Amino acid sequence: MSHKYVYLFSEGNGSMRELLGGKGANLAEMTVLGMPVPQGFTVSTEACTRYYEDGKKIAPEIEEEIYANLAKMEEINGKKFGDKENPLLVSVRSGARASMPGMMDTILNLGLNDDVVAGMIAKNSDIKFVRFVYDSYRRFIQMFSDVVMGLAKSTFEVIIDEVKEKKGVKNDIDLDADDMKELVKLFKAHYKKEMGEDFPSDPKTQLMESVKAVFRSWDNPRANVYRRMNEIPYSWGTAVNVQPMVFGNLNENSGTGVAFTRDPATGERALFGEYLINAQGEDVVAGIRTPSHISKLAEDMPEVYKQFADIANRLEEHYADMQDMEFTIENGKLYMLQTRNGKRTAAAALKIAVDLVDEGKISEDTAVLRVEPKQLDALLHPQFDAKALKAAKAIGKGLAASPGAACGKVVFTAEDAKAWHENGEKVVLVRLETSPEDIEGMAAAEGILTVRGGMTSHAAVVARGMGTCCVSGCGDIKMNEEAKEFELAGHVIKEGDYISIDGSTGNIYGEAIPTVAASISGDFDRFMKWADARRTLKVRTNADTPRDAAQAVAFGAEGIGLCRTEHMFFEGDRIKAIREMIVAKTPEARKAALDKILPYQQGDFEAMYRVLEGRPMTVRFLDPPLHEFVPQKEEDIVELAGELKISVDELKAVIAGLHEFNPMMGHRGCRLAVTYPEIAEMQTTAVINAALAVNKEHPEYNIVPEIMIPLVGEVKELKFVKDIVTSTADKLIAAAGSDMKYHVGTMIEIPRAALLADEIAKEAEFFSFGTNDLTQMTFGFSRDDAGKFLDAYYENKIYENDPFARLDQNGVGKLIKMAAEGGRKTRPDIKLGICGEHGGDPTSVEFCHNIGLNYVSCSPFRVPIARLAAAQAAIKEKNAK
Ligand code: PEP
Ligand code: MG
Repeated sequence: MSHKYVYLFSEGNGSMRELLGGKGANLAEMTVLGMPVPQGFTVSTEACTRYYEDGKKIAPEIEEEIYANLAKMEEINGKKFGDKENPLLVSVRSGARASMPGMMDTILNLGLNDDVVAGMIAKNSDIKFVRFVYDSYRRFIQMFSDVVMGLAKSTFEVIIDEVKEKKGVKNDIDLDADDMKELVKLFKAHYKKEMGEDFPSDPKTQLMESVKAVFRSWDNPRANVYRRMNEIPYSWGTAVNVQPMVFGNLNENSGTGVAFTRDPATGERALFGEYLINAQGEDVVAGIRTPSHISKLAEDMPEVYKQFADIANRLEEHYADMQDMEFTIENGKLYMLQTRNGKRTAAAALKIAVDLVDEGKISEDTAVLRVEPKQLDALLHPQFDAKALKAAKAIGKGLAASPGAACGKVVFTAEDAKAWHENGEKVVLVRLETSPEDIEGMAAAEGILTVRGGMTSHAAVVARGMGTCCVSGCGDIKMNEEAKEFELAGHVIKEGDYISIDGSTGNIYGEAIPTVAASISGDFDRFMKWADARRTLKVRTNADTPRDAAQAVAFGAEGIGLCRTEHMFFEGDRIKAIREMIVAKTPEARKAALDKILPYQQGDFEAMYRVLEGRPMTVRFLDPPLHEFVPQKEEDIVELAGELKISVDELKAVIAGLHEFNPMMGHRGCRLAVTYPEIAEMQTTAVINAALAVNKEHPEYNIVPEIMIPLVGEVKELKFVKDIVTSTADKLIAAAGSDMKYHVGTMIEIPRAALLADEIAKEAEFFSFGTNDLTQMTFGFSRDDAGKFLDAYYENKIYENDPFARLDQNGVGKLIKMAAEGGRKTRPDIKLGICGEHGGDPTSVEFCHNIGLNYVSCSPFRVPIARLAAAQAAIKEKNAK
């Protein structure tokens, strides 16, 4: 038998989602349950994949199968396609495996032509019915032309407006049967003029062209963007559902509506939804008429309401989840057109999961799987007021770099951000890109918007760490820093103007949109306890200030996986000492400068250890290229030369000497310690002395310092730096009369280190995968600039995701797996973790669980997300066994 591509609803069931799509599988399941579903068929997702494989053609055998099922559908329904006496009219709708609301196309009223219309009117000449028939016909022409032929809907709206104007009326409702008939004539003429041929009258042609159009819509730009945002693979394809039309706009005894079994905003258990009498689905969405609350249906049509409420109950019981249903009432008879697990807010998701456990409907395991880890973001960050957001229109879009919503007055420098904030203003900091010097301004801002930079750029990483909303890499912005203004899509925004940015979508608004504060309900703690009881992967955080560390601990972090020490060097007098060190010409002069930094650094570590109360902390030694610490602007250079008591020329020579063509592959990481061992010595002293001091205050903390050497590619370079660390540390510990232990490990962030991990493990007591650099160096493109060309890669289906946001499991993942194995071969008890930005990405966390890492480390606000993702990975693994 040849391969089956088309299934009657009665041939499928709810478990066939991959093949029939969500909508098709659920229509089949409702059929199995004996619910009133207009009986049609589903063209499978495999047919869609085939369509693309065959060069955007439907193979003859699939066409045949569609027609064969059409014949069966005619028989089941006792109606015929194109028949004058008893015509079958159908809807053609998309339905992918994962629901993608509004992303793909739909065609209604298919099967109408002049003959069918004439036949329908001949049987019923009631003037209201005649109007309904012509109205359906003109809607069909409009929809088919738009969706199938690409002739924009708006060009038809113009014609409607002309007819209304001629008649002197305002609303579509005011057009009568004759006007609708006239519109049909005008629409067909418009079609012929634009398309150079008659509107297709053969229903079979209409059907086949519509099926193709739905397949094509899988590849439309908005669907592609939605898929990337929701991590839905392009390869899945969509199914097409062909279903007999039922008419909610037939008369006053008809209607249509949408309802949820629980409130999708709050999770409250009660039927929630809306309906309209005498209307078709699009009228509910169009918002011209105000729908009634579903509870009112109990008065309007008590019998129908009772039947619907009963079906809703049964569906929720059956799926053991909140359902989102579409229904139509035709002449007093109820039809179910769709059911699916309803989309819900984060708060509702938590409440529903917890309530379903309490109602005995699902297990705690299932509840933990029910909440999307990324959704938790919404509970931890401020959000826009939903009503205000609906009324707003975005003027541009960047990368959704750090979630939450921000609204404030635009400032262009970090200094202004700080100063305005101190004056009680709420500000959004807009920069070409941010640098470490901007840190205080970033902390003072409600949100950060940058023109350049990707998901691991400075702005993105730092904003996520602080929990501040950030949209990065909006290349459409034309920046004029001098004039303190920028232009975006024709809007000129000046300093002090209000803008709003959404770090969860990347949207930018040229207006003020009020925000509402985050709120964590009681369900959250209970739910997260279930998650924690199930996960095996530990969750640490990336933090380098006591404030961030405390925040992360409050969110459940079990320690610090990455304390980047360079961020500590920018505050106050420290930067001066660092600059002194950089211009130093002799080791002695360098050491003298480092001696000034030592007390600050030690104090920082002590504060961190105190906040952590005995939880572990991995301190990473100085990593960035030194040019990041020196000024670039003329006036700053002159000022600094004065401070350092050297000539401007001399300082300029030093700065020029720091210039590198590829700084990210230059004099940074452990290379700094190889050239300037004094730096490693100072940092070791700071860490060890801090741990000794806090252990003395709090013996119960039992701190075991973890020192991490960055950017290692060769075991001998690790050994070189490690020797400095151990000789320094051992002396200090002995002098203190202590027996404190400490560990020295390395980051694996250079492909060579991953390849030679077995050798590196001879010296390293732990590995932490620095997947930001590892991704950069494996792909060979910059973590800061990839945004410039990644869009073209998405458009051309070369990559489906940003590899800096979601771990490339095939390539970078292979290196990680290889390194984990190599490390364990040499040192079976080696501790393995990840501290790149991927440590907070759910699918990447799942990968880390599956290859047996000990922990992930992520920014504080992502800790709950990682905890939940780790729990889900453990449950999925258990369920697969
Ligand atoms: C990394 O490279 O993944 C990492 C965590 O280090 P950084 O982002 O500081 O380079
Ligand atoms: Mg790195």
